[in-house]
Amino acid sequence: MLEITTTHMQSQPVGEAEIAALAAGLDGDLLRAGEADYDSARAVWNGMIDRHPALIVRCRSAQDVQRAVRFASAHSLRLSVRGSGHNVAGTAVNDDGLVIDLSQMKQIQVDAQARTARAQPGVNWGELDRATQAYGLATPGGVVSDTGIAGLTLGGGLGWLRNKYGLSCDNLISVEIVTADGQLITASADEHPDLYWALRGGGGAFGIVTTFEYQLHPVGPDVFVAFCFHDGNNARELLRFYRDFIATAPDEISTFAVLAHIPASEHFPAEHHGQLTLLFQACYAGDVADGERALQPLRDVATPLIDMSSAMPFVELQTLWDEEYPRGDLRYYWRSTYLKALSDEAINRLVALIAEAPSPLTTLDIWAMGGALSRVAPDATAFAHRDAAITIGVESNWADPADDEVNMTWARHVTQALEPFSTGGQYLNFPGFFDEGEATLRQVYGVNYDRVMAVKAQYDPQHLFPMK
Ligand SMILES: Cc1cc2nc3c(=O)[nH]c(=O)nc-3n(C[C@H](O)[C@H](O)[C@H](O)COP(=O)(O)OP(=O)(O)OC[C@H]3O[C@@H](n4cnc5c(N)ncnc54)[C@H](O)[C@@H]3O)c2cc1C
Repeated sequence: MLEITTTHMQSQPVGEAEIAALAAGLDGDLLRAGEADYDSARAVWNGMIDRHPALIVRCRSAQDVQRAVRFASAHSLRLSVRGSGHNVAGTAVNDDGLVIDLSQMKQIQVDAQARTARAQPGVNWGELDRATQAYGLATPGGVVSDTGIAGLTLGGGLGWLRNKYGLSCDNLISVEIVTADGQLITASADEHPDLYWALRGGGGAFGIVTTFEYQLHPVGPDVFVAFCFHDGNNARELLRFYRDFIATAPDEISTFAVLAHIPASEHFPAEHHGQLTLLFQACYAGDVADGERALQPLRDVATPLIDMSSAMPFVELQTLWDEEYPRGDLRYYWRSTYLKALSDEAINRLVALIAEAPSPLTTLDIWAMGGALSRVAPDATAFAHRDAAITIGVESNWADPADDEVNMTWARHVTQALEPFSTGGQYLNFPGFFDEGEATLRQVYGVNYDRVMAVKAQYDPQHLFPMK
């Protein structure tokens, strides 16, 4: 017998014969404590998360996912679903329950003529971009190549192509998904449209996606990228300039500004290490020469401390930040809020807040919204926050476990201090640790909350798949 925690957080014995039957029927493998690979399979990107599942089903096929879901459902087991394991809140793993691990499901098929790609849920953005860029195509993803396509797409998806082509979830044509009853179905505009609606921004609470089908667009292979570190002592004036710049920027420009300290890495001149900076980052999804001209104002507004702007392959842009976000080494707690506008008062507050950050690795990310993503109606998909001017990513990053409390407290303080400027919403992919429970979900789903819950009740009435 193995004691496994249920969806109601009670311990329940499950017979060894049933566990052995599950293992025998898998194309992949079943791991438990003490077995080779168990520790690496339970480790996730955030070094703060150290959980010990009772069982990990490492799936190799959609049929494995069906087998694992049926097993979990039959025993009402506490369940977590893992794509690439990047979720900052560590939702990919749990203590004493079952983990359905999709990280080895990595097939990608590109149809260059139809400009579509089908990808399995273990694929990350670096892998998908490389496959699609072989044909000069791409779909909007995130800004770090190691992040999983699965969690990022289902939560919305903010990246370098968002103003031109929308969120990742806006480019989702269809999914194959295993629902709580173990069925493998297709959800698209024509089939199960209510489920398809919920999956675009509503997260992983409705079933387990085994194939994502994306719309692709011509991108690159080279794009012009602004990557310009200005003196953080001038952040207020620079952010006022930035507000005016984004107000008239064409859709080709997707940009975010970052209040940060210059990393102490070999890629940056030693004399600037640790210095407060306002970084302007932008990608121009179009002609390289047009991009250089269009992004020049971000570089000319002041004499930069460091200017690494250049034309580069789109796949290289996707890796620019990879080294600063190592897997497993650091501790991370990320929250978010949406701003109605980048007002003078909001700018002053942001600049004051970064000065109080306990860790030099911490950043405040100021993502400009607008463009294609804002032309989708708030109720057209589960992602409601189409009219926000700005998404603020509060990235608390640090190394020493002794500093956990002070860094998490600062991040909570930031979102409270920004409340007067906020739409009241927050982004599902930067949710803290879902500290505020149900209130977090209400902020995430906004005007779509009731409809999201209705789809949940229809497809997963027993709440097998956690919402947070
Ligand atoms: C370094 C870093 C950079 C990031 N950059 C960006 C960014 O640029 N833009 C952005 O929008 N977000 C970004 N994020 C946030 C990211 O979108 C989320 O952390 C997302 O959950 C990661 O997806 P994953 O598949 O790796 O997650 P996992 O931790 O594997 O899974 C997270 C959750 O997603 C759900 N899920 C995963 N796979 C499936 C599936 N196949 N079917 C159903 N549900 C599933 C489950 O609920 C699961 O618990 C970043 C995160 C990190 C750590």
